[in-house]
Amino acid sequence: MGRRILFLGPPGGGKGTQAKLLNEALGVPHISTGDMLREAVASESELGKKASEYMKVGDLVPDDLVVAMVEERLARDDAVCGYVLDGFPRNVDQARAFSNAMGSDAIETTIVLHVDEAQIVERLLRRADLEGRTDDNEATIRRRLEVFRRETEPLIAYYGDRVRRVDGVGSIDDIFCRVVRELAE
Ligand code: AMP
Repeated sequence: MGRRILFLGPPGGGKGTQAKLLNEALGVPHISTGDMLREAVASESELGKKASEYMKVGDLVPDDLVVAMVEERLARDDAVCGYVLDGFPRNVDQARAFSNAMGSDAIETTIVLHVDEAQIVERLLRRADLEGRTDDNEATIRRRLEVFRRETEPLIAYYGDRVRRVDGVGSIDDIFCRVVRELAE
């Protein structure tokens, strides 16, 4: 089983939770561009200042900024044996840039988590209460879902036979078990 894995799914689809579990199981880093960008915003770095206006409204941060951030992160020693990517690539242009920079097998398996839209909105509104994320209000949630359908979903076709579909409804443990089963096949 390869250890260069991408989690793909709608916002609120559980990819962050599952990616974290998988990174613990495989001993490779969990690389979440959303987390990295939120840290950049919190530390008021140059990147954070540029990213925040996009994140606030639920739009994608420009590709060049995100691609450079990920390349820098993957150059660190802990990523030599693999990584679990969460939230990157987010569109076909990012996927192409990533493949040009890191090689065409930089992503060996793409796990697509399936959750229906009503559940997603419910989960995200719950997370807004729990975590206080400013982009988890209803207008931004709808915008992020729209961006997902338009920009990110085409990656399922792009990654073709590297894609494994997993039902993202159920308990965290059950979903994780499905993920592990898919990766073992
Ligand atoms: P996430 O935590 O993955 O839902 O990401 C939260 C927000 O960060 C998104 O709505 C985007 O504004 C931004 N973001 C995260 N990853 C990317 C990416 N790969 N490309 C562009 N913007 C991103």
